[in-house]
Parts: sequence; structure tokens; C-alpha cells
Amino acid sequence: MALIVHKYGGTSMGSSERIRNVAKRVAKWARAGHQMVVVPSAMSGETNRLLGLASELAPSRADKSYYRELDMLAATGEQASSALLAIALQAEGVPSVSYTGWQVPVRTDDSYTKARIESIDDQRVRADLDAGRVVIVTGFQGIDPNGNITTLGRGGSDTSAVAVAAAMKAAECLIYTDVDGVYTTDPRVVSAAQRLKTVSFEEMLEMASLGSKVLQIRSVEFAGKYKVPMRVLSSFTPWDIALDEEAKSGTLITFEEDEKMEKALVSGIAFNRSEAKISVRGVPDTPGIAYQILGPVAEANIDVDVILQNIGKDGKTDFSFTVNQGDFNRTVELLREEVVPKLGADEVIGNPNICKVSIVGIGMRSHVGVASTMFRALAEEGINIQMISTSEIKTSVVIDEKYLELAVRALHTAFGLDSAEVSKSA
Ligand code: ADP
Ligand code: ASP
Ligand code: MG
Repeated sequence: MALIVHKYGGTSMGSSERIRNVAKRVAKWARAGHQMVVVPSAMSGETNRLLGLASELAPSRADKSYYRELDMLAATGEQASSALLAIALQAEGVPSVSYTGWQVPVRTDDSYTKARIESIDDQRVRADLDAGRVVIVTGFQGIDPNGNITTLGRGGSDTSAVAVAAAMKAAECLIYTDVDGVYTTDPRVVSAAQRLKTVSFEEMLEMASLGSKVLQIRSVEFAGKYKVPMRVLSSFTPWDIALDEEAKSGTLITFEEDEKMEKALVSGIAFNRSEAKISVRGVPDTPGIAYQILGPVAEANIDVDVILQNIGKDGKTDFSFTVNQGDFNRTVELLREEVVPKLGADEVIGNPNICKVSIVGIGMRSHVGVASTMFRALAEEGINIQMISTSEIKTSVVIDEKYLELAVRALHTAFGLDSAEVSKSA
């Protein structure tokens, strides 16, 4: 008997039929003798629907009191699906109870809409488990030090699940979703994508941070910090498949490098459509330029990703960087009002129609020439690279958004990922 955490995403919880299916699957695990904690997301589309209503009423609000209400609102989606799952489990004859984030409690900071979990009290949950109940903990939400409801950022139920698993010292955290594991790239974009039987924690961290939304990045960070065994698998297999078979399906996130395992040079390709590029043209080419441009941006709490400073000419240069699309207008305004007049720069131009495509692989550490293979593959497709950024196990390029799918497909082929052989330890 083990303590197991299951997480079910929005599509998996998308209708009464699917919730019933989840209940039957969880009941199977409980009847096999496991102590079960289940973390559901809101039913698919519900979080978007709720946030859409808010922006109809206040299209451009961006202050803390507004974000507080957004969290009050968005958290209701998970509360509803948690109660529905408890009802479905009880209907299956399985004793079950659901708790909101504040009832557990899941304590977070007060960064509304992107709060960070600080601690989780395990007592209440443990008491229910010991009394033989399946415990449902609402995903995505927590409570701040002043008792306000918070949410953990889009896709945050993954993080709730892993954090609960860490707090409860669960034997495993199983993330059930609408694909049957982590693939070499998004299988909805590249049909040749291959499922990885295992993926290293470091690669998964990079892929999540570079845009693969199969796992929220903070969930992977938590898994790494607390060494939570974690697996991504499908909620769409028949609920009554053998438990042993189900427990071995999908993709396992691994923490130790297996020396014997032949490492693929590149394990995956991630992409992000939600960045935008901003260029400050004609800035005086003097020391301190990056600080004078990016200092005010950082003070406004705007995250900057890829940065490029061109070679100067006639004492002037261009300085470009990317931000999240949601921060685009704010950043352009800020630069036009505060930075351009102060620096005597020529102009600020913005381009929201870009995307970032990244190759990821721990094999890149020990091999040269990986980036050049990437650049060649893109050149052969006539795709212009606007910006480049590299780290030990990834190379990212910023390109025109219209080439996204072409670029991902070309890279997938160039790195030999189309072949089923890449499925590590297959
Ligand atoms: P859930 O609602 O279960 O949390 P998400 O939509 O957040 O599901 O994440 C699953 C989706 O992630 C898949 O449907 C797939 O389109 C997308 N995805 C992106 N990159 C990958 C990848 N490398 N492997 C698998 N899925 C991916
Ligand atoms: N319901 C939230 C979202 O749509 C959290 C989640 O699904 O993980 O982002
Ligand atoms: Mg998700």
C-alpha cells in the first residue's frame, strides 16, 4: 500500500462522463489498497470563461486589487470540479471528501495570479486518509498570509499536485492528461513527434520553461527540489486497464543520469508563441545602455527573456529584447515615455508576431556543432533567425511566428527525432 497523488487536467475533467471515468479510475487505485489524494483542474474552458467575464467588465485593469478578485473568481473553477469528483466517487461507493486550498491549507505568498506555494499542512488530509477516505485537494489555488485566495498561474494544478505529493511524502505523483506522455515536441503540432519513455528532470525543466505546456514549470521545480517521483500519462485509456500496466505507462521524469543509456543529442523541441519583441533603435552606443533600458523594465516587474544588442555604427546601436505578450503594450509605453527621451534614442518598435523555438538535450553538453545543425536546418527552409540565446543544454531562436510549424518540423527531422528509436530505453 502506498500513498499516491493523481492529478487530472481540464480535458480529463471536461464533462460529467469524464469525471465519472476519473472517479472509476481513482476507485480502482483505492480498492487496490492505495491511499489516494486527487488534485483536479477546472473543467476545460472554465478558467478562460471566468477570466473572459472579468476582462469584459474591466478590459485594461492591472492593479493588485483587481488581481485579487481574479483569483477569487478563477479559483471557483477548481472548487466546482473537486466537489463534482467527490460526488462521483461517493456514487461509486468510495468515501471521499474535497478541500479547497484554504481548507487544507495550501499557504502561498500574495502574488495574485502567480502565487508561490510556501507550505502545505498535511494533518487534515492525513487524518482523512487514515479514516479510509479519498481526499480531493483543489488544484491551482492557495491562501495568502492575510487569508485571501490566491492562484498559482495558468497550468498551476500540476504544481498543486507535485507540492501536495512532496508535503505528503507520496510514493508517486501521476499527472493524467489528454496525451499519453511527454513527446519530443507537441504532438498536436508535429504528427511525427515520439513519446519519451523517460525524460531527465533537467530536460523537462528546460522544455517547460521554454513553452511546452504539458507541465507547468514550477511543478517540475518542485519535483526536482523534493525528488518527487513523477509520471505523465493519459486519462483517456480505459479506466479498467490493469493497474500495473497503467502504473508503468506514459513518461517518467528521472533524476539520475543513466550512464548506460545512449543519450539523444537533442531530446525535445519546445516553442513559445506568447512572446513579443521590442527594439529600441538608435541608442547611443555607450556603457550602461542595457541597464538604462532594462532597469526601468525590471522595476515595472516585467520579465525579459532573449536580449540582443547590435554592433554599433556611428556611435549608435539598436537594442532588442523579448517579453511576454501580456506585457508588450505596457513595455512599449514605458520605453516611449521614460527611456527614449532620457537616452535620446530614435524610436521604439514592437513586433508581437514572433515566436521562440528551442532545442533541448543534455547530450548538447558534450557535443559541439548542435547549434550549427539547427541553424543549417532553418536556413534550408529559408527561415530568418532574428535572435539567438543559448545555455548548456538548450539553444533558442526567435523567428517570425508564421514559420513556427515549419521550423519545428524541420528541426524535428534534422535531429533524427522523427524515428521511433528516439524513445529512450524503448
Ligand atoms: P491538462 O489540462 O491536462 O493540464 P495541458 O493542455 O495543460 O493539459 O497540457 C497537455 C498538452 O500539452 C497536450 O495536449 C499537448 O498539446 C501539449 N504539449 C506541448 N508540448 C508537449 C510535449 N512535448 N509533449 C506532450 N504534450 C505537449
Ligand atoms: N484551471 C487552471 C488553468 O486553466 C489551472 C490548470 O488547469 O492547471 O490554467
Ligand atoms: Mg496543464
